[in-house]
Amino acid sequence: MLVTKINILYAKIFKLKVINYSQWVNFMVKSEAAKARLFDRVFICMKCNAKIRANPARVRAGKVRCRKCGSRDLRPKSKESRG
Ligand SMILES: [Zn+2]
Repeated sequence: MLVTKINILYAKIFKLKVINYSQWVNFMVKSEAAKARLFDRVFICMKCNAKIRANPARVRAGKVRCRKCGSRDLRPKSKESRG
């Protein structure tokens, strides 16, 4: 069966145990979504360094304020590269 052959091929490439193709796709989609959740929607206040989770479109439009100091100077957390 073709699907089984694809499973074995992926297992060889990624040196994992044989998994279902749909499980693998689900895992990839979940990890991408997790990355997006962690970095794309988190902003840091440039005045007091508070973490603010907000919609990037709203931040760019200047509609989001820091809840601590009220500043609109926010930067995306993803641009911070430490470690
Ligand atoms: Zn602030």
